[in-house]
Amino acid sequence: MSSSFVSVSSALAAALLVPGVFLIRHFLRRRSREKYTIILDLDEVGTPRRRGRLPGTAVICGGSVAGLFAARVCADHFERVVIVEPDAWTFTPEARAPALSDKREVEGYSTLANKRSRVSQYAFSHIYQIPLLRFARKVFPGFDDIAQSWGFYFGHSLSNLIHSNHVVPAPKQFTKYTAPHILIGHRRNLEPLFRKLVSEGCPNVEFLEGAVDGFQLGKSPGSAIQAVTVRRPDGATQSLECAMVADCSGPSTIGFKLLSRLQILNLPLMRETYNPNTSYSTLEFPLPPHFTENLRALNIQRFDGGGPLDVEKCNMYWAYNADPYTDNRLVAVSRSDQSHVQFMMGGWDCPVLPVTFDQARAFVEDVPDVPDYVFKIFDLLEPVKDQGTAMPARISSCWNIMYEKAATVGVLPHNFVAVGDASMRVNPRFGQGVTKSVIGAVTLDGVLRHLATGPHGIDMSFGKTYFKRLATRTARIWDSAKYADYGHPSVTPAQGDTHATGRFARWFRSKLLPILHQNDTAALTVFESNHFLIPPSDIFAPRILASVLWETLWPSQKSAT
Ligand SMILES: Cc1cc2nc3c(=O)[nH]c(=O)nc-3n(C[C@H](O)[C@H](O)[C@H](O)COP(=O)(O)OP(=O)(O)OC[C@H]3O[C@@H](n4cnc5c(N)ncnc54)[C@H](O)[C@@H]3O)c2cc1C
Repeated sequence: MSSSFVSVSSALAAALLVPGVFLIRHFLRRRSREKYTIILDLDEVGTPRRRGRLPGTAVICGGSVAGLFAARVCADHFERVVIVEPDAWTFTPEARAPALSDKREVEGYSTLANKRSRVSQYAFSHIYQIPLLRFARKVFPGFDDIAQSWGFYFGHSLSNLIHSNHVVPAPKQFTKYTAPHILIGHRRNLEPLFRKLVSEGCPNVEFLEGAVDGFQLGKSPGSAIQAVTVRRPDGATQSLECAMVADCSGPSTIGFKLLSRLQILNLPLMRETYNPNTSYSTLEFPLPPHFTENLRALNIQRFDGGGPLDVEKCNMYWAYNADPYTDNRLVAVSRSDQSHVQFMMGGWDCPVLPVTFDQARAFVEDVPDVPDYVFKIFDLLEPVKDQGTAMPARISSCWNIMYEKAATVGVLPHNFVAVGDASMRVNPRFGQGVTKSVIGAVTLDGVLRHLATGPHGIDMSFGKTYFKRLATRTARIWDSAKYADYGHPSVTPAQGDTHATGRFARWFRSKLLPILHQNDTAALTVFESNHFLIPPSDIFAPRILASVLWETLWPSQKSAT
């Protein structure tokens, strides 16, 4: 073989290899994003279904956030969507309007009246991640204008955050506040806003007052739910024929109860539960006059060296998330919407929760290394100290119903899905519940959009595909929250787990946090992973692992807090 032939073929091979490797990497990356995130599905959400809507009715059990997200998605896919909701208040005009701050006095402090008897956290302030706003903007044109007029605002989740004694820096590319926006505002406004937008924007969605209390199934395992039985407020029973059923009933988990009653496999064995023994209270104040100007004048410096904290562009001024091995507490001070500021205080095994201004100050004074400006924020709130409303909460149960296991062996009705807390509830200290509902709704949209539909309605593999994808996309939420909780001795692990379960995850985090300052790839990956924008495995990139190894061999000093 001549040497010129060899060199030509080597050059040709190299010329093919480089784009080939690039293409394979691109393909694998896309597959991984498709599998572990909703980012690619989000591109299509809100667009009309190509082959026209499916015949029949999608029945949504529960009309809270997950139910409203699921109904909005199903409105693009089914001729008719019915949301069944037992809470009569949700049918009033008040439940489709900005929340009124109805105060109630209890044992020496003020709290907010909860309009939603079945949703205990209704009046609680919530934080959300990036996907919620992306979803809302996709499915409701003009979302930003209406959200702003309801008191929401759009900010950056770049904050002075201390996690397990380490400063969590913003990725360098976002230090100038160019990170994607998050929605900032109350859950008591979020649910009514989505209810209004769904009821006004989706003419094929109906709202039916009543409680779901039965499923009528076909004879063979895995056959469809043919009808849902609804108990109406007058006690009468109504049967609703259905093409698909989405359980969005939150902690009621009505789908799980009805399927367990019908002895669909041994569903109770597929429910994992543990007690995070977490409690906290939020104490919220209306902004006193000139609060923002006075706050800006404090010239709060970013802990990551990024200059002054822009108190108008980010809402979290200080957050302290204890290392469970050394402390049990959680404290944060943040803007909760355009016109309120709040302190959140509590932690694992926290028997006494602060509910007044003075108690809050005493609680924070007891936390190590609180920056001075936090107490200056208390000073700024002195004029409104008696106008605070406290919301104490105790969280004693988190659960994960592993429907994917039942669906895989083909015994779940193939037209049944569950979205939101009806399938998984995590410790709210991580503020991921609403994003989890978005992940469920967007996953549902993707499955409905791309799965072939048979002549008799939705495909036999529908429920199985949905639960498999959902489990892959939400496993990190369950595992990371659970493993972090297990670090605290007062937490009761799930059956089969011990406090040692998740030790590797906790060890890895303890090595990862100190390197974020020097390794911007790691800082960006942590940021994007916390917002569910990238696959969780990205954290094991070689550049990050090398820094973690270095940190293990030559530990750095702990960051100043
Ligand atoms: C104290 C606390 C703080 C939280 N903070 C945050 C946070 O900061 N960020 C965040 O993202 N998440 C947070 N969460 C979690 C978040 O609130 C939930 O994940 C979310 O509200 C779940 O919504 P859902 O629609 O699934 O369930 P829910 O809101 O519980 O709604 C269930 C609905 O089903 C209805 N229903 C019940 N039984 C039936 C039946 N038989 N038939 C029909 N309908 C029925 C109920 O009336 C209700 O309307 C917090 C939770 C708690 C407890």
